[in-house]
Amino acid sequence: MRLILLGPPGAGKGTQAQRLVDKYGIPQLSTGDMLRAAVQAGSEVGKRAKAVMDAGELVSDAIVNAIVAERIDQADCAKGFILDGYPRTLVQADAVESMLSQRGIGLDTVIELVVDDRALVGRIVKRAEDAKAAGQPVRKDDNPAVFEERLREYYKKTAPLTGYYYAKGRLKTVDGMASIDAVTAEIEAVLEAAAKAR
Ligand code: AMP
Repeated sequence: MRLILLGPPGAGKGTQAQRLVDKYGIPQLSTGDMLRAAVQAGSEVGKRAKAVMDAGELVSDAIVNAIVAERIDQADCAKGFILDGYPRTLVQADAVESMLSQRGIGLDTVIELVVDDRALVGRIVKRAEDAKAAGQPVRKDDNPAVFEERLREYYKKTAPLTGYYYAKGRLKTVDGMASIDAVTAEIEAVLEAAAKAR
């Protein structure tokens, strides 16, 4: 199963992706996590991405496309994967199409978590508090000022993907404001319906 989770920062993509990993045994490919790992490792990509990420802006399409193209060729992706936080621009969406078609594979479903923006800042602040309480590192971009820029980037560059996938007949929407369990149940229902339709 190859799935894209769409939605603004704080919509719950990572939380839901983690649950799907457990249920379907396929990896979550979070470009945010991969970029943070690159920053942590001090690699060339990490050095180029750090300031952009700290400002809440998007890293260049060339960098993230190259990271994903390399990652999907790894053995654990053979049965499928969940793209979380990628694609985030129309250029990236086109790159996914060609990456998959070059490998003779397709995309099963695109699920958008639909959320109320007003709830998102609160979720991000809570995520930072929870990380701190658990003794985990707090993301530098999980604060209200940077969050506003992340949301602006989302509307400018990522929100158009909804129309892109709708036009291809691939978009499914799920109410991301419901409880975490209810969102998971709704996503699973969408995936089961998609599997039956194949
Ligand atoms: P995330 O963990 O998905 O919220 O991503 C954190 C940050 O990593 C974003 O604010 C961007 O700076 C960068 N990033 C993650 N995924 C992408 C992507 N697909 N395209 C560009 N930048 C990305």
